[in-house]
Parts: sequence; structure tokens; C-alpha cells
Amino acid sequence: MATKIPYSVIRGGKLLDIDRRKAVPVDILIKGDTIAEIGRPGLAAPEGAAVIDARHRLMHPGLINAHTHGPGNLAKGLYDRWSLELLLTASQWVGIGRTLDDKYLSAKIGAAEMLLKGCTAAYDLAAEFPLPSVEGLSAMAKAYEEVGLRCVLAPMVADISFFDAIPGLMDRLPASLQKEVESFRYAPWKATTGQIKKALRKWPFETVHLAVAPTIPHHCSDAFLISCRDLAKDYDVGIHSHVAESKVQVIAGFKRYGSTLAAHMDKLGLVTDRFTVAHGVWLDDDDMKRLGDRGASVAHNPGSNMRLGNGLADVRGMLNARVNVGIGTDGASCSDNQNVYEAMRLASFASKVQGPDTERWVTTAEALRAATEGGARALGLAKQIGKIAPGYKADIVFLDLHHINWIPMNDPVNQIVHTEDGNAVHSVMVGGRMVVEDRKLLTVDLAKLAAQAAESQARRAKPMGDARKLYDRLEKVVGAFCPGLAKAPLHIDRFGASHHDH
Ligand SMILES: [Zn+2]
Repeated sequence: MATKIPYSVIRGGKLLDIDRRKAVPVDILIKGDTIAEIGRPGLAAPEGAAVIDARHRLMHPGLINAHTHGPGNLAKGLYDRWSLELLLTASQWVGIGRTLDDKYLSAKIGAAEMLLKGCTAAYDLAAEFPLPSVEGLSAMAKAYEEVGLRCVLAPMVADISFFDAIPGLMDRLPASLQKEVESFRYAPWKATTGQIKKALRKWPFETVHLAVAPTIPHHCSDAFLISCRDLAKDYDVGIHSHVAESKVQVIAGFKRYGSTLAAHMDKLGLVTDRFTVAHGVWLDDDDMKRLGDRGASVAHNPGSNMRLGNGLADVRGMLNARVNVGIGTDGASCSDNQNVYEAMRLASFASKVQGPDTERWVTTAEALRAATEGGARALGLAKQIGKIAPGYKADIVFLDLHHINWIPMNDPVNQIVHTEDGNAVHSVMVGGRMVVEDRKLLTVDLAKLAAQAAESQARRAKPMGDARKLYDRLEKVVGAFCPGLAKAPLHIDRFGASHHDH
């Protein structure tokens, strides 16, 4: 006997209409995990349909975090003055001593935070050292499925260490440190692609999809980049890479390739509609045109870009070049929360500090579309999520209109982006199932999660303490060398102001 697909109907709520900037009273009929119909209040529903009361609620599509790192959640708030290059130097310190349980736990903490803050899907770039493993990816996917957040999980991979990837850096290290950072080297790339292929071939998870993430182009040999390109094409999955996140990366790219990073990746055939650039702060006009022409995406992470001192991305330039833009938080070690409302707000504000021409500012509607439809396209799920419409998955956030953030409601688009901070999230539905109800996450026991995180912290304290000593020695060199490299002249400038010598 075929199992009957259950119906549910949401009654009494107001649906966000971005174009009309209105909250419209509607009822929504859901069949299984999909929106079947949206109609006037009083919409007919099949007998036995579960009724969800949405009075005093504003319904908007689940937000989509277009760029994060699950492993970062255990490192939330760990350090203050990190540039991107110092963060990369710290990766050994931060990641040392992690077990399979820690990989699961870290992903779970992030998934829980995202759901509680109105986000229903994420693009997670997850690193394992010295290479990804099917077990590690499965542990993280299990965390996402259990918590109830959709995910595109991309093993973040490299075959050139940070110290080898930045021209001149290794030579600057004293011999003793050169020896120590040898342990930072990754597995040969063929072993890495072998693991990814193994995972791709037999992937049992329904709401967690795989993708491929060559972490930073110049941290990967060309042969490796090409193999990532082919894997993504063969298995029809996305590719995600940190491109032109910092000025140092762009300088390193020119030294290595004689071109921009995006131009090099395009030459190798990686820039297609399945490609997402993380950050793209230092993309120039030609790069943006290249990405736009190929139908590629940028995951814009304004909080991280400010936090790591990378500068302010030119989102107007991207939109003008027809680049698909999504919005991300980046990992909790450099943002340090997983709040997409805040990321949208910062996307709006970061565009507005760049100059007085209001036409170049990112509008609230653009920021909101980026955090919903744009993110959906970047995740390769454009026809499934990012909108509340018939045929789309029922991923819906219910905001409490009696919360102080909404008293009064003047313009729901402006208020979601500029006023909302996640505090008015009352309930969250993913695939027709309530995962947050009355501000409580139904799938996770937070007290137990806190105890597990504390246990993990205690267990890793000793190895992390030792690794920190090495980091402190490396910080002195990297912290002096990389800002020096960033002083090189470049045809674009994305720093927020010229108060520093650069
Ligand atoms: Zn990142």
C-alpha cells in the first residue's frame, strides 16, 4: 500500500511580498514537504490536514547561508585580531585534536544556531586535514539531517600549504619554523579526489548534497583544480572557492599566474553556472564580467570581510555585471555568529559606506533576494528553495509581529533587513516540518549540546595549548610579512578607508 502524503495548512499568517513591499494575508496548503497552493484566507484543505496557526506572524522564505564552515563553530569567538592570513596560519591550532564526534558536534552547533535565527539551508565548506574522509563528511551530514537544516556540504581541499602558496613567505621563516610547518602539508591531490569521488558515488543523505571546494585557487595545483572541475561536472554538483578574498591573495595570484585568480580559473574552465566565488572582495570589473557572463555566483560575506580586514566588496559592480549574489556569514571563527539577518544588514550597510552615490547602494530588496533566491541559485537549488511559491519546498520562517522589532510594521522588506536580528523568529519550518516552534529548537537538546561542547573543549585543551605556542611564533612572521605584501600597488582598492598605510 502506498503511504499517503500528509497535508498541512497554514492559516491566518501574512506572506511577505518583496515586489509590493507588503505582508499579504494568505493561507498556504502544504503537501508533504512541498507548497501545494497559496490562496486567500479560508483556502480549502483536504480533510485531516494538520492546521498551523500563523496569526500575528509574518512569513518569509527560509534564509540561505551561502557560505559557512561547519568546523568553525567549535572555534566561535576564539581570537580577536585575525587577518585572513593569520586565520589560515591558525588553522592547525584551531583544528587540532578533533575526533569524528567533534566534526559532528561542530556542524550540529552551527545548524542549530542557523535554524534558531531563521536560516533553513547552508553551503558548508568543511575542511578535514590532511584530506577529506567519507566518515567525516558523513558525520557532518548526519548532524545537518538530525537538526533539520538543508545543506550543500563541500569538502574544502588543497594540495599546497598556506606557507607554500604565498610567494616568499616560506623563505621568510627561520629554518626551525620551516621544519615545523612541513607538518601543515596536505595529502597528494589524487588521494583527496579519490576520497571525494568515493563519497560522491554513494551518498545516502537526502537533504544534504555534496559539492567540491578547492579552498583557494593558488592553494591548489592546476592539475588538482582541473580534477575538481571534472568531478563537479561528472557528478553534476557545485564548485565553491575562496577567490580574491584578500588583497594578499590577488597579489599572490599575479605573481603566480600573471593574471587575476578569476581569470586563471576561467582559463582552466572552472567558471561556469555551477561555480560560486566566496567573498570576491578584490574582484575587478573584468572578473565580475567574466563571472556574470558564465552565470556564476558570489557568496558575499560582509561581516567576515570586515572582521578579517579584507575590505568591502563591490556588490553593485557584481549585480551590474549580472553575477548571481548570495549572502553568507562565513565560519564562526571569523564572523563570529551564524546570523543571516545580520549578514543581510551588513550587506546593506557595507555598500552604503562606500560613497555618497545612493544609486550604487545595495537596496534592502536586493539584500533580501540575495539571502533567499540568490543563495538558492548558488546552492544549485534554485527551483526548490528561496521562495514561498507552489512547487517549492515548504521552508518558511514565521516572525512574531507582536515582537518589538515589528511594532509598528511600516515596510516589511526594510524591516527584515534593517530591523530584524533574529529575535522575532517564532517558528521555522523546513520541508513542511516544524523544527523551531515558539522559539524552541525541537530537534536539539541545547543543554546536552553545551555539555558535549564543554567536554570537547576540555579534551582538546592540551593539544590546542601546544599548537598555540607554534601559532604565536608564526604569527610574528606572517603578521609582518602579509601586510607588507598587501602594500603592493593594485588597480583596485577595496579597503574601507585610507587611514592605514597600504
Ligand atoms: Zn570561507
